[in-house]
Amino acid sequence: MLNLLKHPLLTHKLTILRRKETVTRDFRETLGEIATLMAYEITRDLPLKDITVETPIGDCRTKELAMDIVLVPVLRAGLGMVDGISNLIPNARIGHIGMYRDHTTLKPITYYSKFPDNLGDAIVMVLDPMLATGGSSSDAINVLKEYGARTIKLVCIVGAPQGVERIMKDHPDVQIYLAGLDDRLNENGYIVPGLGDAGDRLFGTK
Ligand code: URA
Repeated sequence: MLNLLKHPLLTHKLTILRRKETVTRDFRETLGEIATLMAYEITRDLPLKDITVETPIGDCRTKELAMDIVLVPVLRAGLGMVDGISNLIPNARIGHIGMYRDHTTLKPITYYSKFPDNLGDAIVMVLDPMLATGGSSSDAINVLKEYGARTIKLVCIVGAPQGVERIMKDHPDVQIYLAGLDDRLNENGYIVPGLGDAGDRLFGTK
């Protein structure tokens, strides 16, 4: 299911990312802030469990998060979202996945993956700023399911309708979160109007 997050701060900060004049440092900082704001919205429905703690005055029946959170950035642009979310959820464990598509077979190849244990008991947030064709996100989700993940949230910043449709078809059980839903993809697979190449803009590689 698609969740298009609406908040004036998100809209404002997304405009900063979209502006072509935004320099690497501001792009990186703003992308991190957007990730934090999105995480705040996305975690609204996290399950809590009852516990008792001792305050300096006495016992207090209270609650704490009932499930582990695992963040999985899809390399490399997903890395730009990690700090913003882990600032809010400092106990989150972090996995990594890097994939590409073999040009001849068109099969997804995982060139790097490392995940924490017990993915099946965690809420797994897959981080990938741009949901373009949806191919890399869908492949990453397949790999995570093979490792046992059962509750998966796909956290992107900007998406195209094609990518949203692909994920909803391949993974109807996965919740998709976006801060912006754009018009289409161009012939090079970039989101229009989008914000350009998120990885290059984050890391200053172009
Ligand atoms: N990846 C990007 O970084 N930007 C796009 O527009 C599409 C995919």
